[in-house]
Amino acid sequence: MEPVVYLNGKWYPKNEAKISVFDHGLLYGDGVFEGIRVYQCLVFKLREHLDRLWESAHTILLKMPMTKKEMEEAIIETLRKNQFRDSYIRVVVTRGVGDLGLDPALCRRPTVFIITDKITLYPDSLYQKGLKIVTVPTVRNLPEAVNPSIKSLNYLNNILAKIEGKNAGCKEALLLNHQGYVAECTGDNIFMVKNQNGTQGVPLLLTPPVYLGALKGITRQAIIEIARDKKIAVEERILTRHDLFNADEVFLTGTAAEVIPVVNIDGRTIGAGKPGKVTGVLLKAFHALTRQDGVKYQIN
Ligand code: PMP
Repeated sequence: MEPVVYLNGKWYPKNEAKISVFDHGLLYGDGVFEGIRVYQCLVFKLREHLDRLWESAHTILLKMPMTKKEMEEAIIETLRKNQFRDSYIRVVVTRGVGDLGLDPALCRRPTVFIITDKITLYPDSLYQKGLKIVTVPTVRNLPEAVNPSIKSLNYLNNILAKIEGKNAGCKEALLLNHQGYVAECTGDNIFMVKNQNGTQGVPLLLTPPVYLGALKGITRQAIIEIARDKKIAVEERILTRHDLFNADEVFLTGTAAEVIPVVNIDGRTIGAGKPGKVTGVLLKAFHALTRQDGVKYQIN
């Protein structure tokens, strides 16, 4: 059975879901999106993703053509139609079809589409061994320009960073902000663990505050809450590359990647050069949470 895609209120077979070349999402990257995961018929943190989608749209002055409830129903109906129990969902809302000018006022109504599919960013072996990443010259978007808190369709900045990372032989790239502080990776937030008083000490979990130039990741927030639950101290702190190089553990978080350890940054070995204990504890707790927290649906 060919999967169907939701497009503006109807479902089409994957190869027939088409949008106009005059859509401003395509012409100008004028739109917003979300990536959401489904685990065993539980749409993980769906409400949080919809809240962020609505906030992104509000900031770019895009009036959503439906309610959150309607969006939730459309997402679940798409999953049901495709009989998916585990999936990666991409929700996209563009400014809609306009003319060749920039003026969004000429776009009569936003285009909405929902794709349910699978995504594998990294092979299993990398979760066991850990990732090697590199800092790239492209800096994260300035908050005064397209604020990185907006999950906009304009990902060129991140794509350039990704290409630069791959050119340097790495699957993921670290972006600094314009001041040289650690921001995030191309599609993931970053955390470090620093053991107080040496390797046997009490772990402190650190992540940059989002105002320095990161997306307010939903996985990031889940990890912060899990850590606090486990009485692991967490702080949002301004971080430099030096801080990361001297961390005991580093890991990335994101909807697609979940929690992935980092063992080398710019040629420096991180901690023991293998995924750390705290990362393992958080990853396990995160997996458990994905089985409990979300909007449930049934497949007939
Ligand atoms: N940063 C960027 C730039 C992202 O695109 C994403 C989402 N892939 C993240 C961080 C992680 O956010 P979330 O945990 O909400 O997926």
